[in-house]
Amino acid sequence: MIQIYDYDGSFLYEIIEDYKDSKTQEEKDKIFNFFCSSIWSSDNKRKTYTKSIGFHVRKDLLNTNLGQMFHTRTNIEYRYYKSKTKDESWSSIVRQKINNIYTIYFDKEVILQKEYLDLLKTPKRFYHEWISGADMDVAAVTKLIDESIAKSIEVKSRLQMEKMDLSWNEYKKIVEKFLRRAFDNCKLIGEYEDQSKIISRLDFLTEDHFYVGYICRSLEGEILKWQKQYYGIRDHKKYTRCRQCGSIIEKTGNKRLYCTHCGKEKERTRKRKIAHKYRIAK
Ligand SMILES: [Zn+2]
Repeated sequence: MIQIYDYDGSFLYEIIEDYKDSKTQEEKDKIFNFFCSSIWSSDNKRKTYTKSIGFHVRKDLLNTNLGQMFHTRTNIEYRYYKSKTKDESWSSIVRQKINNIYTIYFDKEVILQKEYLDLLKTPKRFYHEWISGADMDVAAVTKLIDESIAKSIEVKSRLQMEKMDLSWNEYKKIVEKFLRRAFDNCKLIGEYEDQSKIISRLDFLTEDHFYVGYICRSLEGEILKWQKQYYGIRDHKKYTRCRQCGSIIEKTGNKRLYCTHCGKEKERTRKRKIAHKYRIAK
């Protein structure tokens, strides 16, 4: 009989080996539930915070028109997230992976694509060009900066649409399914290597890295599969994004641009326009 309370502080490989060795479903459930509760109770919670692309206008330039213009655009903020952990325990590392996947696929506030960040960096970039000696016209530069900030808002909302909708609690449920599958499909190290090797403490740590790596890779693969299901894409199909709503659609030979829903809407608008023109012409 497995003594669950003995697991505290145990290595991941011990948990996985015991899981594999369990004869009954009940034992397997208990071990797996212990594993999940270690992950969910980890101190390594998901965190996001505000970061800014800041710069300071040199004091001697503050009284100039350009200096003033830059001064009011020195603090461009965006949302960032804690993406790494210093805690090397398996529960913290696996939890970090779970947190990161949520942030990347579901958190609409954290937008970190280069396309977006580059637009936010425009004032800073122009400022550095200016102090490096570039000749600048206040009105022209102000216009360029304000346009790129306006554009960044557009880009952000498009990238937000490309994220899926799922609450953290719903996410936890699907992650547990992913993890369970990883446990069931996991091959023990012993099945790979020569059993006669003397195992030192360092090897125990290496074994844990092996399983941590395996679980993290499984999660990455699972979320991609899940994303395809979410958008109703068949497996092994290449995909692209709908130009209108950002959802994922299967790539087809005839260069489809929109998902079924948006395609219908576009067609309806097109026909309405033609009908309208026709009515006016009459
Ligand atoms: Zn669409």
